[in-house]
Amino acid sequence: MLYLVFLLVILALIFLWQSNRQRSATGLPGGRVIYTDTHAWGEVEKPLFYHELGLTGKPDYLVERDGLIIPVEVKSGRTPAAPYDSHIFQVAAYCLLVEKTYGKRPPYGIIHYPNRDFAVDYTAALESSLLDQLADIKRDEVRNNVPRSHEEPARCRSCGFRKVCDQKLA
Ligand code: SF4
Repeated sequence: MLYLVFLLVILALIFLWQSNRQRSATGLPGGRVIYTDTHAWGEVEKPLFYHELGLTGKPDYLVERDGLIIPVEVKSGRTPAAPYDSHIFQVAAYCLLVEKTYGKRPPYGIIHYPNRDFAVDYTAALESSLLDQLADIKRDEVRNNVPRSHEEPARCRSCGFRKVCDQKLA
């Protein structure tokens, strides 16, 4: 039994080390595990819109805390050890939209997975990465040939452009 506990501790440490390594490789801020009270969450009726960037999006919920508005994105499926990069950028985009819509910058956004919630700090560095990504997307919109940016068949399997994409992996 003691061996089993020891093995589980070692596996947990390896898992944590791997996720920290991946996180520092991407340069993204990661997320802090937090407790949230879902009863205080208010559903968002209309999408938020930021005209200057042509950016629109609808967080699943907005939470009011200490006079600030915090966006919440709800994800189903497996709960990861750390938030996925795509989810971090999504919640960062909601932070940007909340700031432009309500005139107050959220210090963080929340990603709610089935078994854990993460607070993703909306830092100046994350905002800058987000703006770079948005600029890349805008530039690619008018290009004829945009190379695939990943090697993940699973992403292609759930992609809405799969039928017309000549670079799909699955
Ligand atoms: S199907 Fe094409 S557009 Fe969709 S994720 Fe795969 S490579 Fe990207």
